[in-house]
Amino acid sequence: MSDNAIETGFQTDPRAALWPNYSPPGELVFRRGSGSELFTEEGLAYLDFLSGIAVTSFGHSHPHLVSALTNQANDLWHLSNVFRIPAAEELARRLVAVSFADSLFLANSGTEAVEAGIKAIRGYQASKGHPQRTRIIGFSESFHGRSLAALAAAGNQAHMKNFIPGDYGFDHVPWEDLAALDSAIDAETAGIILEPIQGEGGIRPINKEFLESVRKLCDEHGLLLMFDEVQCGVGRSGHLFAHENFGVFPDVMALAKGLGGGFPIGVCLTTKAVAEPMVVGTHGSTFGGNSLAAAVGNAVLDLVLENGLLDDVKTKSQFFVQALEQLINKHPNKIESVHGLGFMLGVKCVVPSAELLVALRDKQLLVGKSGSNMIRLLPPLNVSREHLEKAISIMDETLGEM
Ligand SMILES: *Cc1c(COP(=O)(O)O)cnc(C)c1O
Repeated sequence: MSDNAIETGFQTDPRAALWPNYSPPGELVFRRGSGSELFTEEGLAYLDFLSGIAVTSFGHSHPHLVSALTNQANDLWHLSNVFRIPAAEELARRLVAVSFADSLFLANSGTEAVEAGIKAIRGYQASKGHPQRTRIIGFSESFHGRSLAALAAAGNQAHMKNFIPGDYGFDHVPWEDLAALDSAIDAETAGIILEPIQGEGGIRPINKEFLESVRKLCDEHGLLLMFDEVQCGVGRSGHLFAHENFGVFPDVMALAKGLGGGFPIGVCLTTKAVAEPMVVGTHGSTFGGNSLAAAVGNAVLDLVLENGLLDDVKTKSQFFVQALEQLINKHPNKIESVHGLGFMLGVKCVVPSAELLVALRDKQLLVGKSGSNMIRLLPPLNVSREHLEKAISIMDETLGEM
């Protein structure tokens, strides 16, 4: 018996055997999903504008993804990378064809994609005769995952406390502070990591000129630039990759969330020079890029790369942002501004964002929370106009009653 005994009591609470590190609302259990909606046992429909935190990029149970998964499941699930995996080779070929990258490593999650990138940055510097270059600079309000190195990369003291002794080889500077970044670079610096659109710390697209300056600093000092597009990548921003919004390209990039559409996958993409030192024995993953994950990843790519999809995201996003701005005009003492790009949107609240989130959930609209007192709106990329309108009307009603 401990502090994690909740509401219904330790013996009967079905959550009791799980670590107490999450706090899902007790009474709400979803049994089925379809498109932008989730359904409870009783058949109550909720509009899902959280999408499993930008993961179910084409909603729930999309027929193309279901058939990719089930067809692959009937053929072959898993081989390990001891053998060639044709679906993984195909996924890699396609991602390389549409990105800055020359090759990639397949993992199971965003954190693992980030970890692979951190190793590749250090491995590259060592291979170029700079083994002392091991330190990586990150930015305030960042999030890169929950492994030890990913926590250290983001430098969020609240997440690191009790878990990370020392700095683990990372330095940190304030977001978009060029002078601080410049003076943080020294003879031990190997690279810089950032989210082109910050997600967890508040929805925050990076300033284009700042990003151009970061790229320039990297080139001047022989540093590698890594983008964490785990959340903002794969169409979420209205471009295939968020950095395309700014016209600045990385040497290393992590993808995950949206690429699996709900199936666990992570990818670390790199240039040829960064990939070259990652020879046999330097890195690996048992599950990474297995047949099931690769088959689903390919199917998600089919949908994202479909003609007009990204334009459609931009058009619908414009419509949605305008409607949100009208809500701000109508309820200025409740919400104050809209942030983000495409369908990675944050609404900064005047009221506590957690209260708005719960009030919206009570009216069957699911949203996320983010730092800086924002709620996070991450509808599926293929959400319908009707569902966007419905979300606005639920928000209008909720804000009116608060
Ligand atoms: C979610 C997230 C991660 C971590 O991904 P996991 O799949 O949870 O390991 C890393 N970086 C960013 C920007 C994220 O949003």
